[in-house]
Amino acid sequence: MGNIIASKSKSCGFSNEFSFGGGRYSYQTYCPVPAINKETLEFENINYLEHKNTNKYLFYSDDILKGNNYDNNIINNFDLKLNTVNNYCPNCKEKAFAFHITMFVD
Ligand SMILES: [Zn+2]
Repeated sequence: MGNIIASKSKSCGFSNEFSFGGGRYSYQTYCPVPAINKETLEFENINYLEHKNTNKYLFYSDDILKGNNYDNNIINNFDLKLNTVNNYCPNCKEKAFAFHITMFVD
């Protein structure tokens, strides 16, 4: 079960939308996650299964892109977890990026 997630930076207003987690039939080969490309510092929505062993990305499921998560609100997909608040914003670089689920996909 995957999610479509909408984001918004509480600091600068930057927003986007991305997929998180594969569907019921594709999860073994396709698991999209939000990530930061270490070379360009751009936000990308990449296949975790393809890139988890490369050193090219920071994933939003990694602690390094997470800030304080005071209410412990977490979005799970198998063993990947996203915080819903205070993530790294690719635009203003503050830990102010909030996520909320807009759709569940099979
Ligand atoms: Zn921002």
